[in-house]
Amino acid sequence: MITRRELTLGLFGAAAIGGLFLAERLRPLRRQSRPVVPRMARNVALGALCQAMIAAYETPLTDAVAERNRKRSRGIEGVIPGPAGRLAGFLAMDYGFYLWHVATHKLPFLWRFHRVHHVDADMDMSTAVRFHFIDMLVSLPWRLVQVRVSGVGPQGLGIWRAFFFGSILFHHSNLRLPKGWDRRFAAILTTPRMHGIHHSQRRREMNSNWSSGIALWDHLHGTFRDSPPRSAITIGVDDAAAQRDIALGAALEAPFRAQPARQSGGAFHSHQ
Ligand SMILES: [Zn+2]
Repeated sequence: MITRRELTLGLFGAAAIGGLFLAERLRPLRRQSRPVVPRMARNVALGALCQAMIAAYETPLTDAVAERNRKRSRGIEGVIPGPAGRLAGFLAMDYGFYLWHVATHKLPFLWRFHRVHHVDADMDMSTAVRFHFIDMLVSLPWRLVQVRVSGVGPQGLGIWRAFFFGSILFHHSNLRLPKGWDRRFAAILTTPRMHGIHHSQRRREMNSNWSSGIALWDHLHGTFRDSPPRSAITIGVDDAAAQRDIALGAALEAPFRAQPARQSGGAFHSHQ
């Protein structure tokens, strides 16, 4: 049975997603190089497989850890009383994701899966759900560590999930924010222009802007990058198989094949 609160949240979420979908088409940030409909269909299909994995494994397991956090008052949130503890727990969850994202680029085994996300040659809201479904299992142990260490309870976990999902839809979107807003937002949150730089084919640009929610982590680690302008960025991965691996079937096989050498300035040298 759906509660009234769930219905309200669901409607609010659907309206926000619909609004963002329209907004990124009315105020595009980057010119799209591929036909939109097949791209979105592929990305949504990959996203649906991920969602099935999340519903089957990640949600019940992280819920169980969060419930124990609440009962035993453990982890960061458990040892800091009151709202400060809830804030610290939330920040710890978000920082854990920053660290995981860096690892997905630096460790060749993790890059096999994360590459499926970066291969998309354009970015819009649908890129936010373009992941390999096995990635949802590969990342699960770290996700459980995040929940355990942050000490978030069921409510805090729910808030973080909603924030994180909203954030990834927003910063993968092709929405051009009004002049000046992007810079101001990027001081606090990951923006579409900021994350677009992370999706650049160039190694220097890809190895920056790792934050997926709060932008603080990039500012603290000195990994925040504000340039080049969007017109100078080519979105995607520049290895020999990137064009092929945009397609649905090829994307699903990609992590299990010998990995292609990068043509120039990629995240790894060719011997990796
Ligand atoms: Zn990435």
